[in-house]
Amino acid sequence: MSTVDSGVWAAPGRVNLIGEHTDYCDGFVLPFALPHRTEVIAARLDRPEWIVSSSLTGETVTFDLSEPVTGWAAYVAGIVWALRDAGYDVPGARLDISSGVPGGAGLSSSAALECAVLSALVDLGGLDLPVAQRPKLAQRAENAYVGVPCGIMDQSASTLCRAGHALFLDCRSMAVEQIPLDLVGHGLEILVIDSRAPHQLVDGEYAARRAACEKAAEILNLPALRDATLADLSRLDDPLLIRRARHVVTENDRVLATIELLRDGRIREIGPLLTASHASMRDDFEITVPEVDTAVEAAIAAGAYGARMTGGGFGGCVLALVDTDRSDDVAAAVAEAFRANGFTSPSFFSATPAPGATRLS
Ligand code: ADP
Ligand code: MG
Repeated sequence: MSTVDSGVWAAPGRVNLIGEHTDYCDGFVLPFALPHRTEVIAARLDRPEWIVSSSLTGETVTFDLSEPVTGWAAYVAGIVWALRDAGYDVPGARLDISSGVPGGAGLSSSAALECAVLSALVDLGGLDLPVAQRPKLAQRAENAYVGVPCGIMDQSASTLCRAGHALFLDCRSMAVEQIPLDLVGHGLEILVIDSRAPHQLVDGEYAARRAACEKAAEILNLPALRDATLADLSRLDDPLLIRRARHVVTENDRVLATIELLRDGRIREIGPLLTASHASMRDDFEITVPEVDTAVEAAIAAGAYGARMTGGGFGGCVLALVDTDRSDDVAAAVAEAFRANGFTSPSFFSATPAPGATRLS
């Protein structure tokens, strides 16, 4: 592999069309990449040292991995660490980071950062790391170095997505299928509503959901909830575990049903599946908050075909499938519902499926 001395790399955030909290259950997800991305201006150094700055924090952090790195720079150090741990000779580098991905809104700014840095270091070092293997390495950085027990979806989306497509990922086999998602050609729009609800309890609750799913699979004597059917759930005694597992089992089915419809070009018909996914997250998985529930209800009342929270939960964003010419009305109705409930004003953007990580120059 040839090396480069410097350049600019970018990796996007994502929304997940459907398939929430299924990735760590070996299940199915269907994210697409956003045009919002994190950019890294990178230059190789002739010594094993990394000098990292972020326009978001205004800070510059220098590390050589002899001491643990904490805070936001841990996402960068984790990539260096995971590459080294996998046996790669990682080049030292100066990395200047800027991002258009809203942070902590469930749009995966963390994976965008990891995947942009990973792309840069791979090219600067001429490392032989096939694209298909990059998501696992970036996930390992977040799991083992940063300490966040995330699944594989975010890093896969940020790396593997293609413009105009959603990414159907089997999180067990890592098999990938690019599903065409021509919203514009169908007069449709995915309206993303940032609820701006304060993210609270996110880390602990995420870990608790993951533990519940693992416990349910263990009681059922299955490798993961991916392998469970609705009939299996009658073998669980704990009503809470039944509800948690039911979300995962039904959500995997909804992903597959969504893909069938999209393959047929019947995009509007996925609306009820999106809304059913939201109800499952609200009632069975219990990861929604009043702001996102309000956004979903108001969007549907104003004519959206379907709507759901996207991302890990406890705040963050809602996506709504709307006719393009209804988008403004739906946004206005959601804003009005937030006003009536005394919530912080939401923000809105229209999401079009964009490409995954890439070298820009
Ligand atoms: P999400 O991935 O949904 O945006 P996370 O909590 O997983 O939320 O990741 C957000 C964290 O990622 C931030 O708190 C920060 O530590 C780090 N991060 C993301 N983008 C940047 C950036 N451009 N500069 C510095 N840190 C960043
Ligand atoms: Mg994240």
